[in-house]
Amino acid sequence: METLSPSNGFTLKLAGMPDTSVIRLSRPATVGVSAQDIPHIRPKLLVKEKEAVKTGTPLFCDKRDTAIQYVSPGTGTVKQIRFGPRRRLLEVVIALDRMDDYIEFNPVSPADLKTLSDPELVERLKQGGLWQTLRQLPARDTADSRTAPPLIMVCLNGNDLFSPHPGRILQDRTRLFEFGLTVLQRFCDRIIVAARTSALDMLGPVEHRITHPVSDIYPAWDPGAILYHIKQRAEENTAWYIHAEGLIRMAQFLETGRYPVETMVTVTRGNDKKPHMITRQGTPIRLLAGNVPSGSLITTGRFNGRRVDPDTHLGFFENTLNILPDAPEDEMFGFLRPGLNKPTVSKTFLSCLVNREVQPDGTLHGEERACINCSYCETICPVDLMPSFIMKALVSDDIEEALQLGLLDCCRCGLCSFTCPSKIELTQILSEGMDTHHKDKQG
Ligand code: SF4
Ligand code: SF4
Repeated sequence: METLSPSNGFTLKLAGMPDTSVIRLSRPATVGVSAQDIPHIRPKLLVKEKEAVKTGTPLFCDKRDTAIQYVSPGTGTVKQIRFGPRRRLLEVVIALDRMDDYIEFNPVSPADLKTLSDPELVERLKQGGLWQTLRQLPARDTADSRTAPPLIMVCLNGNDLFSPHPGRILQDRTRLFEFGLTVLQRFCDRIIVAARTSALDMLGPVEHRITHPVSDIYPAWDPGAILYHIKQRAEENTAWYIHAEGLIRMAQFLETGRYPVETMVTVTRGNDKKPHMITRQGTPIRLLAGNVPSGSLITTGRFNGRRVDPDTHLGFFENTLNILPDAPEDEMFGFLRPGLNKPTVSKTFLSCLVNREVQPDGTLHGEERACINCSYCETICPVDLMPSFIMKALVSDDIEEALQLGLLDCCRCGLCSFTCPSKIELTQILSEGMDTHHKDKQG
């Protein structure tokens, strides 16, 4: 099997790789279901504060398809419903009881699967809060159940360099993984299973299921980057994808008739080698992060995650926290320092010459400046785009030009923003351009 490898990407060694041991965290006092990491959703609240909920009770749905529900990952009472500006739903917080009481569905074994029609299967997954684990490119919206996908990608690695190791996610759950693949085959014959080559030796029996090993160059394992390198027809741009844990949880829900509440999370901080953690979905950030100095930057991905408040909860799709040291406002004589510990793509710091792990911080090295046409963003883009040209087209409101330049191939990896010496938020500009285009198309 040929290993998929983008011509560009990021190979710098970063400190903080989690240990592959696994611990189980204690039951949290609260869990939250966040609407902030769910792309494109228009949430409609289904509960009120102080209302009692079971594990699996729908908390909010998507107004665009009210059958798609986001359910409670625990039994208890709605403690708080947090809103942002213009009453945008941020998260629903549940104070947990000691024991779980589940909303029960009829279990579906692999043998029973044939007894469910396709619409019944889709409906069951939507009601159970698991359909949305299937995403659709290029906008990464919830998969559209009204159309058959050209292919489905099962991506074993998460969005971040240090997302949970698929060998740990799959450990003792091969049977569920196989059941999940059977479920996917109900929607499409062409299933692709991709994993980083460095993960293969810990996959056990799942290794023989890998159809596309991908290199360790970030973000080669991202579904958008994989699709860019394998697609042959324009129709394939609307491929679906799902991550390993989503697939397993989907199978677990069907098999037990209960919403699966556990998830695996990694936390990276400095040179720590923290174990993988099994915890409840929507667990408090503070429980995972521990004591963090005020001003620390906590994100759910080094290059493409969102910044999180330590007093909130982990999002529906999130399974990695990166804790970066406080960014010093002024680094005294920083320009005279060799930068042996600083990541660099443009070879500004001496770290490019030594083979050692480096630790990023939140320093911007000055404010945003005008584009200097250096082409660094182009050189690093894993899907061969010219981000500065697309950015300029979008800033001039020329969406047609941006589309012609390949906007929809952008996999939102964050590398162009990371590398830009002028600190232009290229990824954000391109992501907003894609989202606006998607919204306009939906009408
Ligand atoms: S344009 Fe930027 S965010 Fe998009 S794929 Fe290229 S490097 Fe990544
Ligand atoms: S890296 Fe930044 S400054 Fe350089 S061409 Fe791209 S947008 Fe312009």
